Amino acid sequence: MRIILLGAPGAGKGTVAKALTDFDGSVQISTGDILRGAVKAGTKLGKQAHGYMERGDLVPDTLIMDIMEARLQERDCKKGFILDGFPRTIPQAEALKKLLQRLKLKLDLVVNLDVPREVILDRLTTRRTCSNPDCQEIYNIKSKPPAEDGRCTKCGSPVVQRADETEEAITKRLKTYNEKTAPLVDFYRKERLLKTITSTSSGEIVRAIKEAVGR
Ligand code: AMP
Repeated sequence: MRIILLGAPGAGKGTVAKALTDFDGSVQISTGDILRGAVKAGTKLGKQAHGYMERGDLVPDTLIMDIMEARLQERDCKKGFILDGFPRTIPQAEALKKLLQRLKLKLDLVVNLDVPREVILDRLTTRRTCSNPDCQEIYNIKSKPPAEDGRCTKCGSPVVQRADETEEAITKRLKTYNEKTAPLVDFYRKERLLKTITSTSSGEIVRAIKEAVGR
């Protein structure tokens, strides 16, 4: 399947994307994961992106489109892809549309994950992430804690709180979402690709997506 997951930070895009890849071999592409990996590895991209990310600002569209243009042409995208955290602005959505036309690829669906603000705030402040850039498994200190020694149950690396998950950065990221990303809901409604799912249960969301793409 080829789908886009839209939704505020903490809406559950990452968890839902991972569950969908287990199911049909489509790859999860998270621009946030790619950027965090680049920051950790100290690459040129990481150095360019770091400041924006820490402040809860968006990384410039041109940097993101360079990443995505290359990523969508990699072999593992042949079976499909689940875009998690991209596009995040109207210019990114327009550039993606042109890119997909050029690659002769069609999107199946754009899912808007609609989750109440209180749930999002609670999730983001209790969320923890595996520090290994190749893993980035998501934990929650209340509902899905890491191993007792604070390590990832999948790869054994330390599980940490992301630098952009302080209260100040979270508030900024939600504001940025409302200003820059929420308009994409209308953009994809006009493209007749949008499905809004109002749920806090990732199992329920995954079932609704599978049904909508006809599997
Ligand atoms: P995420 O893990 O998706 O919440 O992304 C973490 C941070 O990476 C965001 O707050 C942005 O600074 C940056 N980022 C991720 N994806 C994008 C994107 N598509 N456009 C611009 N910035 C992005």
